[in-house]
Amino acid sequence: MNNLNSLNFSGGPGALPESVLLQAQQAILAVPEVGLSVLGISHRSDWFAAVVAETENNIRTLLGLGSRYHVLLLQGGATQQFAMVPMTLLRGKQSPAQYLHTGYWSGKALPEAQLQGPVEVIWHGGACDFKRLPDDDELSFSATAPYLHYVSNETVEGLQFKRLLGRDDVPRVCDMSSDFLSQPCAAERFLLIYAHAQKNIGPSGVTVVLLHEDVLNLVPADLPCFLDYRKQALAHSNLNTPPVFAIYVTLLVTRWLLQDIGGLRNMADINQQKAALLYQTLDSSEGFYQGRAAHQDRSLMNVVFNLGNLELEKKFLAQAQRAGFSGLAGHRAIGGIRASIYNALKLSAVESLASFMQEFQQQARNC
Ligand SMILES: *Cc1c(COP(=O)(O)O)cnc(C)c1O
Repeated sequence: MNNLNSLNFSGGPGALPESVLLQAQQAILAVPEVGLSVLGISHRSDWFAAVVAETENNIRTLLGLGSRYHVLLLQGGATQQFAMVPMTLLRGKQSPAQYLHTGYWSGKALPEAQLQGPVEVIWHGGACDFKRLPDDDELSFSATAPYLHYVSNETVEGLQFKRLLGRDDVPRVCDMSSDFLSQPCAAERFLLIYAHAQKNIGPSGVTVVLLHEDVLNLVPADLPCFLDYRKQALAHSNLNTPPVFAIYVTLLVTRWLLQDIGGLRNMADINQQKAALLYQTLDSSEGFYQGRAAHQDRSLMNVVFNLGNLELEKKFLAQAQRAGFSGLAGHRAIGGIRASIYNALKLSAVESLASFMQEFQQQARNC
């Protein structure tokens, strides 16, 4: 069978390493050390407790995360975190939480927060069509905000912060769903980080939450247990039946990051090379391919661009599909083309795409 996984540029769920897919395939029949299908092993088994413990440990090792942080594996995706964060940190507050509205996903977090308490949007990228991110001198961080919330990588628009935002005396909360574990990050400078697995580190169904222990004392008493970080932490991500398969595959990806890639610095180097190659292809196309994001804010994960007109974009996508590339259509909210080049996508796949783009351009010029 022709393996098209290697050219999967999907925005999410994203590509996973082939070695992980092979192990997952094996595990569906039987996990070697247990002799049972991963789909039928009890979440109360010793084996699963060890899976959770190793996944947590691997994430700690990869990020250099200390013991004052909990690593939770929750359900409900990033969308549930949009609500759980303000339920925990914003209810009953007088001072508004500060939010940046830098694109599609940070926009989705806002109404969920507004249901729980006062929110100040300190930057709105709508005026520039979400084509760039703010500089520090455009932002005014309050000392009294309960927290600052932002999205490190705007997956739809292809914008990524290259710096830490905010002030050290106000807790930072960050949605890192689409660039988590793609590069080192100063995890301990955040109160809370959340990232669902399905862009960079696993299948859908599990969401990683890194939580400073102080958060546990802030949880209101009247939350349903499922939405209560404290109860989730006490239960070691096993409050109710967790997504065993999704967590197992996420474990395999963290092993791959540690053992095959050799850590986040190496991962970042590879991701830099992949992104540089695609952006170079855009920049040397004499305007044939138009990158969407301002240069300084270009995402290393999602390369978003347009061609001269809709018809040409359709032709590009159809021809790319025939050549074996998949997942290149832009997000339905903005159209265009988006090449998502998450961790598992190899440099060789990006090289193939860059060549395809050059050939397509040549062809279009000749007719
Ligand atoms: C995809 C995405 C989401 C949506 O996550 P769900 O798990 O579908 O709720 C949220 N934030 C970012 C940055 C994303 O890329």
